Amino acid sequence: MTVRVGVIGAGMIGQDHVRRLTEVVTGAEVVAVTDLDAERAAPVAAEVGARAVTDGADLIGQSDVDAVVVTSWGPTHAEHVLAAIAAGKPVFCEKPLATTEEDCRRIVEAEIACGRRLVQVGFMRRYDAGYREMKRVLDAGEIGTPLMVHCAHRNASAPESYRSEMAAQDTAVHEIDVLRWLLSDEIVSAQVIKPRATTKRYPHLQDPQIMLFETAAGVRVDLEVFVNCRYGYDIQCETVGETGLVRLPDPASPLVRSAGTSRVAVHQDWRDRFAAAFDVEFQEWVNTLAAGVEPTGPSAWDGYAATVITDATVEALHSGGVVGVAIKDRPEFYAGDVR
Ligand code: NAP
Repeated sequence: MTVRVGVIGAGMIGQDHVRRLTEVVTGAEVVAVTDLDAERAAPVAAEVGARAVTDGADLIGQSDVDAVVVTSWGPTHAEHVLAAIAAGKPVFCEKPLATTEEDCRRIVEAEIACGRRLVQVGFMRRYDAGYREMKRVLDAGEIGTPLMVHCAHRNASAPESYRSEMAAQDTAVHEIDVLRWLLSDEIVSAQVIKPRATTKRYPHLQDPQIMLFETAAGVRVDLEVFVNCRYGYDIQCETVGETGLVRLPDPASPLVRSAGTSRVAVHQDWRDRFAAAFDVEFQEWVNTLAAGVEPTGPSAWDGYAATVITDATVEALHSGGVVGVAIKDRPEFYAGDVR
């Protein structure tokens, strides 16, 4: 069965996912595209033989749209995800699930009321081969009980529109999700330390930031977010356990020896670093839909938890203190989530 997909939001990542669903993923076809800017949607749709439609509600209501991908601006996600749930259609929503805790809870409640898993959130790191191997090692107990995690998330540069809060909301949110998943544990507090600021930033920005998280089991996490590091896009993650450690591998890249140096290139862009993870993420999502089973990826509950934790991290940035994370008890409906 071919899964017929409608895409809401034809911006940067929406266009990439349309291409991915058309050229890379098997078993899927993009049949409809919409964007606030109709002139942007039209060529994106035409390129893949789909039609451009008026808006999100129109797209979700189309009888040949089996499943929905939401890649619009974050504050519009809740509206589209709730409409897809109301229509009983599976929906893949790019992160964030919603920009407020209240909207996330409305989505969780709507999904529970509907009685089946329809929502998957776009936390693609869970599909990266290196992180998956880390999780296998941790779950197999190969390094014993995890005690500490050291992470870094570095971008070469950030535009003027990037604000200090976005270090948690747009950048660290990927670590927040993948750490909950890797450790099968919940984050219970957040703190943000402000080191000396780099001169290579816009003056309004606190960069770098060191985020400190504690989990329910007592694991301590330090995460350096440095979005003007200048040298490239660099993701590091090392978990230290009672009997060993496991470290995320750098992406495969040839070692070059020449002109008296020995060097390995560093990725410059997150799209290249996680391209394969995005491909696997969408292939697995389509496979579950084609098989008629519920999605197994990051759930609406994970989207809710990530928003609550990023809110606490932003509060910690402003207050300078340790902020408790108040995640509600996980409903029975999400008990089977991959943890
Ligand atoms: P973008 O380039 O600004 O694209 C968003 C598009 O959605 C724009 O064309 C925008 O139109 C349109 N739009 C806004 N509201 C809409 C609505 N109600 N209905 C239909 N279209 C609407 O942004 P982006 O970088 O692609 O990001 C999109 C989402 O993906 C964001 O939530 C972002 O956080 C997420 N994202 C995730 C990752 C990841 O690593 N997983 C990476 C990048 C982005 P206008 O420009 O006219 O407003």
